[in-house]
Amino acid sequence: MCGIVGISAETNVAAEIYDSLLMLQHRGQDAAGMAVCDSDDKVQSRKSMGYVRDVFQQRHMEKLTGNYGIGHVRYPTAGGAGKEFAQPMYVNSPYGISLVHNGNLTNSKKLGNELFHAEMRHLKTDSDSEVLLNIFAHELGKQREIYPTAEHIFKAVNKTHIRCDGAYAVLALITGHGILAFRDNNGIRPLSIGVREGKTRKEYIIASEDSLFLSMGFTKLRDIEPGEAIFINKQGKLFSQQCSENPQKRPCIFEYVYFSRPDSKIDEISVYKARMRMGSSLAKQIKEINPDHDIDVVIPIPDSSTTAANQLAVDLNIPYREGFVKNRYIGRTFIMPYQEERKKSVRRKLNILDLEFKDKNVLLVDDSIVRGTTSKKIIEMAREAGAKKVYFASAAPAIKYQNLYGIDMPATSELIASNRSNDEVAKEIDADWLIYQTLEDLIETVRFGNPEINEFETSIFTGEYITPLVENYLEELEISRKDELKMQREKSKSNRG
Ligand code: AMP
Repeated sequence: MCGIVGISAETNVAAEIYDSLLMLQHRGQDAAGMAVCDSDDKVQSRKSMGYVRDVFQQRHMEKLTGNYGIGHVRYPTAGGAGKEFAQPMYVNSPYGISLVHNGNLTNSKKLGNELFHAEMRHLKTDSDSEVLLNIFAHELGKQREIYPTAEHIFKAVNKTHIRCDGAYAVLALITGHGILAFRDNNGIRPLSIGVREGKTRKEYIIASEDSLFLSMGFTKLRDIEPGEAIFINKQGKLFSQQCSENPQKRPCIFEYVYFSRPDSKIDEISVYKARMRMGSSLAKQIKEINPDHDIDVVIPIPDSSTTAANQLAVDLNIPYREGFVKNRYIGRTFIMPYQEERKKSVRRKLNILDLEFKDKNVLLVDDSIVRGTTSKKIIEMAREAGAKKVYFASAAPAIKYQNLYGIDMPATSELIASNRSNDEVAKEIDADWLIYQTLEDLIETVRFGNPEINEFETSIFTGEYITPLVENYLEELEISRKDELKMQREKSKSNRG
């Protein structure tokens, strides 16, 4: 996953892009970057590996002058993890275009070949974002306009939609011209726009999540529609157009379960409220299946499950206790490259308050179970702390398939539920009872916030992918995501010195 932001204002935007990236940091901690353009049409940029606060020092910020710009936080899903994958990515023709991308293209290999053989463009990395940038640049350059208007730019977006499959929320800085935003045909990844009054013109912000608008004085205008493009020229004039021939709104449901901040609204659905409803529907399921349950206490696995767990406890009329304290400074366990490291790091990340467990039947709640590393370890810890029985509820249904649309998920074969029944997963993680949200309930809880959405992107639960897939794509991805293979790649790298 990644987070993206673009701002067009009357004065320097770098400080506000920096603040926005801090608020999007949960969407990616691998690398960060920004590019800004000033009134002399000079672009300044800075990108590097690490957290936002580490990438941008005062000396960098001083150089980042300009009144429109874009920023990015990266979490590697396609391509590798390394400095060359940090964004914005840049091509110098036409005009000099910098681009940031959240999502994943599913036909990037084919497009990469087309770019190289037919369009004579060389790609430096195997990043799908670099492919996307070059496709867009090629389509814009083909029009051979010295001064491109919104119309030329939208035509290039239309061609990009036709050629690219997958998920993409994109912001591009077109040097000397303005900033462009667009969202894929299905609107899989989120993108919304906010506005505020400047002294002489309106100022705009476009970002993955709207929760950052208010703190910077912007009010939300709306979500950008699937297939739509918005161009804000360097004078601050806004143009928008539907650039897809078949747009359909099918946002990724996992944004509501796990990724987004609770204070964001995505496609008009409050993430916080959706999570509360996930808790309620889990409580309903528990009451239906086992009205005489003996749960003494509900304990969340911090952080993304706390809202659902709290509501679940309220609905069951059972105490809610914070039985784990999270060390916020330890980094991500999920992205540790190998299973042994992941296991150790769960323990270091979550410390247990044993008195909340001793002699109790506890219901632990998490947003999701992926490999099962967290749940297994946490259940073991709960038992060591003296819990009598340990039940486990997941706000998401069983995750059975790999993700193709920009969420970092392991290979299908590494997902604990990929070839196990719910009872087998319960046994594997050593839960006395495992309650998964049903997919119907999950869709209902999210959709309640915006009944106009008829469909969500739910492929990690169903294996049904909503975009065309090139032959062998799933098989190739499966192989490249396996721990074993990652380990071999590391080894051969270190042997090479
Ligand atoms: P696991 O330990 O592999 O079963 O992963 C489940 C835990 O990872 C849960 O606590 C989730 O909050 C979290 N999680 C789920 N999906 C992701 C993801 N794509 N990236 C990082 N963490 C995730």
